[in-house]
Amino acid sequence: MSFYKEHYDVIVIGGALAGLSSALMLADKGKDVLVLERHNLPGGIATSFVRGGIEIEATLHEMMSIGPKGNRLKVGKFLEDMGVDIDWLKVPEAYHASLPGLEVTLHPGFEKFASEVNEAVPGTYDKVLGLLNLCHTVFDSVNELSIHHMGKAKMLIKHEAFVKTAGYSAQEVIDSFGLPQKAVDLMAPYWIYVGSSLKELPFTIYAVLMADYIGYGSYIPRNFSHEMSLKMAERAEEMGVQIEYRQHVEKILVKDGRVYGVRTERGDEIHSDYVISAAYPNKVYTSMIEPLSEVPANAIKMVNGRRLSLTAFSVVMILDKTADELNIRDYSCFRGDTMDTSKLYDELSGLGPYHYITAICHNRCNPDVTPEGTCSLSITTLPRVDGWKKVTADEYDSVKHRIAGELIDYMSAYYGLNLRDHILEIVIETPVTVSHYTGMWNGCIYGYSHSMKDHIVARLQTADKEKFIEGLEFAGAHQISGNGMGPAVTNGRKAAKNVLDDMKRKEEAGK
Ligand SMILES: Cc1cc2nc3c(=O)[nH]c(=O)nc-3n(C[C@H](O)[C@H](O)[C@H](O)COP(=O)(O)OP(=O)(O)OC[C@H]3O[C@@H](n4cnc5c(N)ncnc54)[C@H](O)[C@@H]3O)c2cc1C
Repeated sequence: MSFYKEHYDVIVIGGALAGLSSALMLADKGKDVLVLERHNLPGGIATSFVRGGIEIEATLHEMMSIGPKGNRLKVGKFLEDMGVDIDWLKVPEAYHASLPGLEVTLHPGFEKFASEVNEAVPGTYDKVLGLLNLCHTVFDSVNELSIHHMGKAKMLIKHEAFVKTAGYSAQEVIDSFGLPQKAVDLMAPYWIYVGSSLKELPFTIYAVLMADYIGYGSYIPRNFSHEMSLKMAERAEEMGVQIEYRQHVEKILVKDGRVYGVRTERGDEIHSDYVISAAYPNKVYTSMIEPLSEVPANAIKMVNGRRLSLTAFSVVMILDKTADELNIRDYSCFRGDTMDTSKLYDELSGLGPYHYITAICHNRCNPDVTPEGTCSLSITTLPRVDGWKKVTADEYDSVKHRIAGELIDYMSAYYGLNLRDHILEIVIETPVTVSHYTGMWNGCIYGYSHSMKDHIVARLQTADKEKFIEGLEFAGAHQISGNGMGPAVTNGRKAAKNVLDDMKRKEEAGK
């Protein structure tokens, strides 16, 4: 006897942040939802692992869109509204920037941030604050416009700054403030978290990133990123969602242009009116739709036309001394040999050495996260998928160990000691690990890269034309808001909203 029902309103493929957000929202509206996750636990990349008896964060550096208690931003508020109770810790600083000629720690809060940049590069306070305020205005517009559709005339009047800056790159708008290069460098480190150089990055995205992270600060769950997915899954089940683990969905079943269910690797055929997929559109349209003849040519054109963004290479360590003893002063340190983001972006298409990294010490936000007398340190770089696609199975181990060694040496030089002498536990995560663990296409953690030719504003306008199969929605890093765990929650909500809107339309039409 099957443990599945005859039929579900919605089947969600993937029980990570995006899929679970969809499930929560649909269950909240009384829909019958099945989540199928191929692993034996929820969370996808939002997870932790245990080495030598010590639990270690696998990925999360910082979450955006959480906001302080009492004034939550959209992701924090959604989770609270859904009854998902996370123990959030505020990250103490924005970041430490270790760049040529600059060693500066910057904190969230626009005035504070501007005065700290001003201390390092005198005479810049007003311009930095002006730029941050512009970011905030655009951020408010994006938040409003993502909920309320607006005519062009009204948009021009109400959202002038958004409209005026939408066609420009981050570099162009920053340049218009006439800031000295060093101040620009201090405002650039987050570029890597959206995966495009300042020249290619639409200002809209830069604005949202800066307003969110610098305006409100970032957060981590006390009990690792896995706390989010575990609590979301627990809450979803309380709300009636059926979650089944170790169920790999192999096929999405389509007839006459409309989905009618899925088939798992185990051979179960399960029926539903809608399917929300965390699996990449590239994967879905090239091998998961059954029959493949139901895939319209435009769907293939769309996935081929989009450029994949960044993947991740991370060395995660438990060290045998405290952060103080090892001279690790900051929670988050961006270290680079240059802040020429175009040059750094080009470098990311190779296999190292990489000259721009992020080092995260969780103990600086969550002191007791590792046993007394130890600390954790992760060193991460975010390469493009191109270079990694060329690594053969024979080369893999040596490439992996060489790059990990280079990253460890790079940060050892910064801390003024040999980190190798202090490693209790070490895990090396490569693009292959990411791809293998989550099924993310080529290990790409940020979906499709944003550029001046193909970015969020344009994608919002073409979103309806990119619905190639009725009843099929996508939720995950590959969707419009892209990039990261906060946006994954937002993407999941958006997919659920699309389903709910479609159900309503059908109900109204009496179908
Ligand atoms: C080292 C590293 C550091 C990062 N740091 C940050 C950070 O600091 N802040 C931040 O916001 N983001 C960060 N990210 C990125 C972030 O983790 C991802 O963008 C986000 O978690 C993606 O979530 P998701 O729900 O879209 O997808 P995923 O986590 O990839 O989940 C997809 C899920 O679907 C399941 N699945 C896929 N295919 C199938 C199938 N066919 N059948 C059944 N199940 C399936 C997978 O098993 C998985 O559970 C980091 C990523 C890495 C690798």
